[in-house]
Amino acid sequence: KRIGYAIVGLGNLSLGQILPGFGASKYAKPVALVSGDAGKAKKIAAQYGIDPKNIYNYQNFDHIKDNPEIDAVYIVLPNSMHEEYVVRAAKAGKHVLCEKPMATSAQACQRMIDACKQAGKKLMVAYRIQYEPHNRLAKHWVREQKFGKVKLIDLHNSQNIGDLAQWRLHKALAGGGALPDIGLYCLNTARYLLGEEPHTVTATLYSTPGDVRFKEVEETVLWQMQFPGGALVNASTSYGVHQSRRYRCFGDKGGYFGLDPAFDYERLQMEGAYAEGKQEVKIAPSIKEAQQFALEMDHFARCILENKTPYTPGEEGLQDQKIMEAIYVSAKSGQPVKLEPITTLDTFR
Ligand code: NAD
Repeated sequence: KRIGYAIVGLGNLSLGQILPGFGASKYAKPVALVSGDAGKAKKIAAQYGIDPKNIYNYQNFDHIKDNPEIDAVYIVLPNSMHEEYVVRAAKAGKHVLCEKPMATSAQACQRMIDACKQAGKKLMVAYRIQYEPHNRLAKHWVREQKFGKVKLIDLHNSQNIGDLAQWRLHKALAGGGALPDIGLYCLNTARYLLGEEPHTVTATLYSTPGDVRFKEVEETVLWQMQFPGGALVNASTSYGVHQSRRYRCFGDKGGYFGLDPAFDYERLQMEGAYAEGKQEVKIAPSIKEAQQFALEMDHFARCILENKTPYTPGEEGLQDQKIMEAIYVSAKSGQPVKLEPITTLDTFR
């Protein structure tokens, strides 16, 4: 059986990646669309062979509860809308896959987790990077200490953001600027690679004075995280410089590796180097690419079919949100912020 998904929000990500991604999926199929634009939804439904009776809008969304073709709902709306639609989907008795960032506050993340628990439904945050083969190999190399123990990881994710009208520049819809949108990849990937939770964060935030793009949300954040095993993470994100999405892990036994690009939808590249005598040998392993959204949707579909907990459950999104909130606190105070130790995530690792 294939799990039937309803896609909520027909914006760039849904049209450019998610709907095409079903073509490469083994366990998932699109069966319903939710959109405020009936004409657009009708056109897209025809394109993907979705029955027009399975088109919903934001008002009649709750009627999905009467539609047995829909097993799961994929929320692809602006960040601050995730909570409402995750909660409504759970109340309608559906499993929920939610885009990142999970929400715009830790309290909202907790309410989403609680709503899904109460409904007895699964909740997964769409952290595609964690299902992607290049990043999975990097995680494996960190864990198996390929070039020794990783002591330092440097991560960066930036893009020069345009289009003043977009929701990403409005705090009420986005929750923040570069940090929750693209900096989150650095944060989440560092935690993924190390399999540990940071105990301290220190951050600096900057927005160019007078740049109208950054009236409500931040432009650039630099932050550092300390992990209990001794690893230090240096991360940066910006909406104000040319795009670059990469990371590098430094081991203590003669080598380093990482990805550049690391967070793109395709053409990711692993790269590194190690010492052989006095020579430095470059490595660039070739890894078979896969459609990242198909991998992620299939993972969730299999969790539903086999009654398992997703690898990136709601608790992962909550933890990232708590750390991002600590990053903002540190940037404001100019002081390091200590994070509460958490153990609940160990059950997913
Ligand atoms: P988008 O602006 O292209 O699409 C958003 C959709 O929401 C549009 O169809 C829009 O009509 C609809 N919408 C409904 N109410 C709205 C409102 N009040 N204001 C604005 N739009 C409204 O955005 P997107 O790039 O598709 O991002 C959607 C979500 O997906 C975000 O949470 C974003 O962080 C996430 N995202 C994830 C990835 C990834 O790689 N996982 C990539 C891009 C976006």
